[in-house]
Amino acid sequence: MKSVIWWIRRDVRLEDNPALQTALQTGLPIIPLFILDPKLLQEPPTRRQIFLFQALQNLDEGLHQLGNRLLVRRGNPLQVLQRIMQEIPVDAIFAEEDYSPYAITRDSQIQNALPLKLILGLVIHHPQQVLKADETPYTIFTPFSKTWKALPKNFTTYPAPKHLPPPEYPLPGVSLSDTDALPYFPASASEAHHRLDSFFQEPIYVYSQGRNLLAQPGTSTLSPYLRFGLLSVRTAYQAALKALINTMRADETIGVETWINELIWREFYISILYHFPNVLQEAFYPHRRNIHWRYVPQEWEAWKQGLTGYPVVDACMRQLNETGWMHNRGRMIVASFLTKDLLHNWQLGERYFRKQLVDGDPAANNGGWQWTAGVGTDAVPYFRIFNPILQSQKFDPQGNFIRQWIPELSKVSQQYIHEPWTMPQDVQQQCGCVIGKHYPAPIVDRTIVKERVLHAFKP
Ligand SMILES: Cc1cc2nc3c(=O)[nH]c(=O)nc-3n(C[C@H](O)[C@H](O)[C@H](O)COP(=O)(O)OP(=O)(O)OC[C@H]3O[C@@H](n4cnc5c(N)ncnc54)[C@H](O)[C@@H]3O)c2cc1C
Repeated sequence: MKSVIWWIRRDVRLEDNPALQTALQTGLPIIPLFILDPKLLQEPPTRRQIFLFQALQNLDEGLHQLGNRLLVRRGNPLQVLQRIMQEIPVDAIFAEEDYSPYAITRDSQIQNALPLKLILGLVIHHPQQVLKADETPYTIFTPFSKTWKALPKNFTTYPAPKHLPPPEYPLPGVSLSDTDALPYFPASASEAHHRLDSFFQEPIYVYSQGRNLLAQPGTSTLSPYLRFGLLSVRTAYQAALKALINTMRADETIGVETWINELIWREFYISILYHFPNVLQEAFYPHRRNIHWRYVPQEWEAWKQGLTGYPVVDACMRQLNETGWMHNRGRMIVASFLTKDLLHNWQLGERYFRKQLVDGDPAANNGGWQWTAGVGTDAVPYFRIFNPILQSQKFDPQGNFIRQWIPELSKVSQQYIHEPWTMPQDVQQQCGCVIGKHYPAPIVDRTIVKERVLHAFKP
C-alpha cells in the first residue's frame, strides 16, 4: 500500500495544520518527516535550533500517542526524499509553503522531480494574494494591511487528528541530538496555547499601552511559537477576532486591533522578502546601499555585551544574551543605537540577532533592522534617532527593567537610573556603583550623533 509524506518544516504541530490535514484527506498511511538539512544547521546549535529540536521531540511524543512516529533523516532534502521513495512506495509529499528565498529555490527544484504539494499555512494570505490594483506588491504597510483585512478569509480550523496511521514498514531514521531545555521558552504546542490563553485573559485588552513597557509582560511572547509553527497563525488570528467581539470599551478594541496589526506586520515582512529577496543582501532602497558605516571593534563588542554605558541599551542586550528574546521596544532601541548612535552597519546587528534570537526569522529580523536603520521599506526616517535616555524614562519609568538585567545598577535610585554617569561621586560610592569601575561610562557622546548621521545619510 502506498503512503504519503507529511514533510514538516516550520509547522511543528498537530492542531490546525493544513498540510497535515491535506495529507490525512488522502486516507493513506502518513510518514511524518523532518529533514536535518546541513545547509541550515549550525554547530554549536543556535538557540533557535535547540528550540526546534525540542519542539520536534515533543511532536514525536504526540505522534507516538496517535500510533505513529516522527522520522528524522539527515541530508540534502531532494536526495533524502528520493531515497525514501526508493525504500517504500509514496504517492505524494505534502508540506507547508515557505517564502524565504532558500525555501523557494529548494522546493521548486524538488517539485521538478517529485510530487511535492505546497499548502498555505505559514500565513493567512499568500504574498501573491495581497497586491495593489495593478498587481504589484505593496511596499508600505498601511495600504498592505487594508487590502489584507478586506480579503475573504478561510475560517476552517482543523483539530488535531485522533489517529494517524503509520506506513506499513517502519523506516530507519536518525535521532535528534539531546540539548538542555531553554528555560524561558519550553518548546511545546501546549506551552504556546498556555501563552495564548494567558495573553487573552487580560494583556491583549490593554496591549496598546502595555506593549511598550519594558518591565511588564505586556506582549504575548508568542514569536518563537509562531516562527516554528507550534501555534497556527490562523488560530492566533481567530482568537483575536473572538476577543474583538467581547471587547466592552473603545480602548480594549484598540488593544485587540493593534495586536492584529502585529500579525499583519509579520505577513508584510514575509511578503517583502518574497517579492524582494535581495533585501537579505542589501538595503531595500538603492540610495541607502552606500552609506559609509563606521566599524570600531571596541564599540561593537560593548554593544553586543551590554556594556555601552547607556543602561536601557545594556539591559535589553543582556536580556537578549540571557534569554534569546528581546522586547520589541528594546529591539528598536538597541538597533537604533547601533546604526545611528554608533553608525555601525545594520547588517552586523541583523546577523547578531539571528544568531541569538529564539524567534530569529529572516523576514521579520531583516524588516526590523532595515526599518530602524532607516534604509528599508516604510522605514523610520533616517534623521529620527531614538534617544536612549528619553526611551528609558518613558518605557521603564521606575528603572525596574534596568535593575533586573544590570545587577551593577541594582542600588541606583530612580533619579539616576537612566543616566548613572550624572551621579555625584559620593552617591556612586554609597550605591556601590562607581562609573568607569563597576559600570562603564557612556561609550559615545550623544551631542555628536545627529550630525554624524545626517552626514552619513545625506542624499
Ligand atoms: C530590529 C528588530 C528585529 C526583529 N527581529 C525579529 C525576528 O527575528 N523574529 C520575529 O518574530 N520578530 C522580530 N521582530 C519583531 C518583534 O520585535 C517581535 O516579533 C516581537 O518582539 C515578539 O514578541 P511577542 O511575541 O511578544 O510579540 P507580540 O507583540 O505579542 O506580537 C504578536 C506577534 O506578531 C508578530 N510581530 C510583532 N511585531 C512584529 C514586527 N514588527 N514585525 C514582524 N512581526 C511582528 C510576531 O510573530 C509576534 O509574536 C524584530 C523587530 C525589530 C525592531
